[in-house]
Amino acid sequence: MTTQFKTLDDADVTGKRVLLRVDLNVPMQDGKVTDTTRIERVLPTIREIAEKGGRVILLAHFGRPKGKPVKEMSLEPIAPVLSEMLGQPVGFSDDCIGPVAAGIVAALKDGNVVLLENTRFHAGEEANDEDFVTRLASLGDLYVNDAFSAAHRAHASTEGLARHLPSYAGRTMQAELEALEKGLGDPQRPVVAIVGGAKVSSKIDLLQNLVTKVDALVIGGGMANTFLAAQGIDVGKSLCEHDLADTARKIAAAAKDAGCEIVLPVDAVVARDFKAGAPSETVPVDKVPQDAMILDAGPETVAAVNAWLDKAKTLVWNGPLGAFEIKPFDAATMAAAAHAAELTKAGKLVSVAGGGDTVAALNQAGAASDFTYVSTAGGAFLEWMEGKALPGVEVLKA
Ligand code: AMP
Repeated sequence: MTTQFKTLDDADVTGKRVLLRVDLNVPMQDGKVTDTTRIERVLPTIREIAEKGGRVILLAHFGRPKGKPVKEMSLEPIAPVLSEMLGQPVGFSDDCIGPVAAGIVAALKDGNVVLLENTRFHAGEEANDEDFVTRLASLGDLYVNDAFSAAHRAHASTEGLARHLPSYAGRTMQAELEALEKGLGDPQRPVVAIVGGAKVSSKIDLLQNLVTKVDALVIGGGMANTFLAAQGIDVGKSLCEHDLADTARKIAAAAKDAGCEIVLPVDAVVARDFKAGAPSETVPVDKVPQDAMILDAGPETVAAVNAWLDKAKTLVWNGPLGAFEIKPFDAATMAAAAHAAELTKAGKLVSVAGGGDTVAALNQAGAASDFTYVSTAGGAFLEWMEGKALPGVEVLKA
């Protein structure tokens, strides 16, 4: 695999001030962190730099304060949580630039860690303003980016700094980029993509890109209904974007031209109510009752998906095959996830998945830890699946 960017292996951090961009955009409730997954992911890079005697200066955004300080979006409550998980003190500066930050950074000793306040409290962050970038850059000798999830934005702390300082990918960014390379960059074939979820409208670019890159594209979830309806199948009361029938037909035609097989549901689990435990039945997709809606793929569809997984060497997955949050409509997603996990564990499949709902679904299936890589990045992962260049990644490439 070709690594086109520099990593911590190439950096001499000892005694240096290292500006480390991380993702600390964790879910919070009443000032308390409710899920520490994102914090866990940045610990290895922080530890490595600190252990090598670097002075770690953490940069992150939180929420959308739109260029001014907003108390509820302060990173201050995250510093003690980070400190506890890291097992060492983490200082805090209530501004990310200016005299306060400069004073705190100047007092750092080798191996110390400090968190600077939300970069988005300054309008220069999202505007990637040169003056703001220069002021941030003056606080560091090196720049390390460990926030893949923010790499689809060309902001000061995700893109600008890399143009001002010697720059490197952190370990989490590195792992993410290596996994994505295995998924779609230079994958082992055959490659199967599973794309599910509610709507086609949010994933048109993604589908258009995938049909040119993968050998089979499984379309599941609510969005499959639009493809079925575009073939003249009556989907009853199912979620369906009838106005996108043309788009669906175009994607199917592009797939045919590219030699990509589109795998649509052949059977479906239907119900009259969108609620847990609603009475349901399994029917062929062309026998959906007028008053019913498709809420999951049926067992024959799962068998077809799993057969493709058996043939595949690589899987890229975004979006559930059904309304997995409500039982029993989780069955298809759970079964395919379990099968992919098993194949991955047996060394037969490279499996890369991402997107908020997908992570939740794979966790629910107990499959996430067996996947090759599960990305917690939402927007950045989708833009990568769309084949777009991510500014925060491009700038790291020498
Ligand atoms: P997305 O955010 O586009 O990945 O969509 C995920 C959502 O799609 C989940 O909340 C699922 O419950 C929902 N979903 C999946 N399949 C269906 C379906 N057949 N009908 C309605 N919603 C669905």
